[in-house]
Amino acid sequence: MTNSNNTMVLGFHYTLKNAKGELLDQSDADAGPLYFMTGSGQIIPGLEQKLLTMKTGDKANLKLAAADAYGERDEALVQDIPREKFPKKDVEIGQVFEIQYSENDLRLVTVTNLTLENVTLDANHPLAGEELHFDVTLEEVREATEEEISHGHAHEPNGHHH
Ligand code: ZN
Repeated sequence: MTNSNNTMVLGFHYTLKNAKGELLDQSDADAGPLYFMTGSGQIIPGLEQKLLTMKTGDKANLKLAAADAYGERDEALVQDIPREKFPKKDVEIGQVFEIQYSENDLRLVTVTNLTLENVTLDANHPLAGEELHFDVTLEEVREATEEEISHGHAHEPNGHHH
């Protein structure tokens, strides 16, 4: 039986490196592939398009320019906040906070610098400005279930994962 809109679930293993060849992220060989549902926005569109051209067992390399991945860095998203306005007293470089910019705009910000007066916050995605190099292996392709479509995400084979 085919679901009405050909929504698929794909499982794949990956390693992700930047242009310098440094490892940024990888799927967990023990925990199994990463699963996503097509059209759910869970993975980068360019990566989703590439995986959709592959068959189970295929391996591929994919290079994505920053603009096609997490976007270019926007220096306007780097802001100095006076320490007396920052709610947390013992803050360290590299810490990540959720900040509610407006009602529907919750962002992750990273502390990138500290002075006696200011805390510097960077609201760019941590991978903004990075050219991404993926090595992927497509492990599984199947149609999404009605339950997955109603939830808007893929369910892992060994149970309900949210
Ligand atoms: Zn669900």
